[in-house]
Amino acid sequence: MLIRNGTVVTSKDSRPATIRIEGEHIKELGPILKAAAGEQIIDATGMLVFPGGIDVHTHLDMPFGGTTSSDDFETGTKAAAFGGTTTLIDFAIQPKGTRMRDALDTWWKKAQNRACIDYGLHLIVTDLGTAGLDDMDEIVKEGVASFKLFMAYPGVLMVDDATIFQALSRTAKNGALICLHAENGGIIDVIVRRAIAEGKTAPIYHGLTRPVTAEAEAVHRAVAMSEISGAPVYIVHLSSEDALNEVREARDRGVPVFAETCPQYLLLTIDELARPGFEGAKYVFTPPLREKQHPPKLWEGLKHDHLQVVSTDHCPFCFEDQKILGKDDFTKIPNGGPGVENRLQLLFNYGVNEGKLSLNRFVELVSTTPAKLFGLYPRKGEIAPGSDADLVIWDPKAAYTISAKTHHMRVDYSMFEGFQVTGNARTVLSRGEIIVDNGKFLGRTGRGNFLKRVARGGAWQ
Ligand SMILES: [Zn+2]
Repeated sequence: MLIRNGTVVTSKDSRPATIRIEGEHIKELGPILKAAAGEQIIDATGMLVFPGGIDVHTHLDMPFGGTTSSDDFETGTKAAAFGGTTTLIDFAIQPKGTRMRDALDTWWKKAQNRACIDYGLHLIVTDLGTAGLDDMDEIVKEGVASFKLFMAYPGVLMVDDATIFQALSRTAKNGALICLHAENGGIIDVIVRRAIAEGKTAPIYHGLTRPVTAEAEAVHRAVAMSEISGAPVYIVHLSSEDALNEVREARDRGVPVFAETCPQYLLLTIDELARPGFEGAKYVFTPPLREKQHPPKLWEGLKHDHLQVVSTDHCPFCFEDQKILGKDDFTKIPNGGPGVENRLQLLFNYGVNEGKLSLNRFVELVSTTPAKLFGLYPRKGEIAPGSDADLVIWDPKAAYTISAKTHHMRVDYSMFEGFQVTGNARTVLSRGEIIVDNGKFLGRTGRGNFLKRVARGGAWQ
């Protein structure tokens, strides 16, 4: 197959080129390649060609607060494909008192025969028990080269500093990457209980009970633990200027700290939580949306590489029958929002079109750096001979209005309802197979492969 007449955009350059695909891989790239007999030709005139998007933060089919996120591995990966994302990394959660390997088996079952695009898994560690550190080594050998630990949600997912430090010390040796949800859970828990005691139960209090300082403090602590242990850390869903300052200051000193943010923190503010009635519940996720001075700082951070990745933290719950669980108590609102389908559209429109990001930086943020940090590069995240033929043929002029009426995520609202963007995926290929073309899904349920990732894939080396 040949993709001709398009502009090939990687993290390094943009140039007119033809891409030859053989089977599942990119075979060659050239200014002009002559079609061989019987070769299928895709005309990409006027189009940009990106490496497929990689979303390293999704929660499909995830139990939370008595319900389950509404997209499973079939609907979630299909929606991702429509938006130009061809790889995602989801989270397997170790229930306390169980072995990590059991969690992997559980998540493989959820994904197998369901996923439409390739996927990897991170493992959420809730309990090191007696064998946990050795189990981490085993998990890395299974191709799960990253772990996530929580500094928030006491009594549920939170682990103490000793646990985080021991895990970091182990990854300093086995080369995996530790991801941290950085918020001071103890402080937040006290503030939340005070609010509820005072009858403050509306969605806005979800935002008002989680101060930015509690995020910045946890990031600072994460940096300290990284420094002492000699292991890199990756801060998930960074939401505020205060937390960003901690990351920047640490990176300036040479500490291997990396961080991602998400479109919601770049484009929305705490005002959404104050919507009339119970509408604010649509925007209840953690960390919460922040005051309006924060998003411009996060954009700056993306531009100057203080932030390295944009993911979505896609974790959808339907408004009608799931978010409603917290009608009388914001602490019972399932935490999470949908976004896996819209990441490239939003970042392209508000980043590239508005001049905040170059095209190459855009590709770096949504595909190349995620691949490098999480042990998938150069198989994914690159357009080069030998790489998987995961490609997005992107129409930079396509006008698109984001809406729950037309999106493919299995959720009854959009956080970006009515947002008008220019630029959208026209044709999406996964391992050489066209899976989306002009708004039609041509892939197959279950065709996605589990990706074994390598340790020490990271750019800190
Ligand atoms: Zn998350």
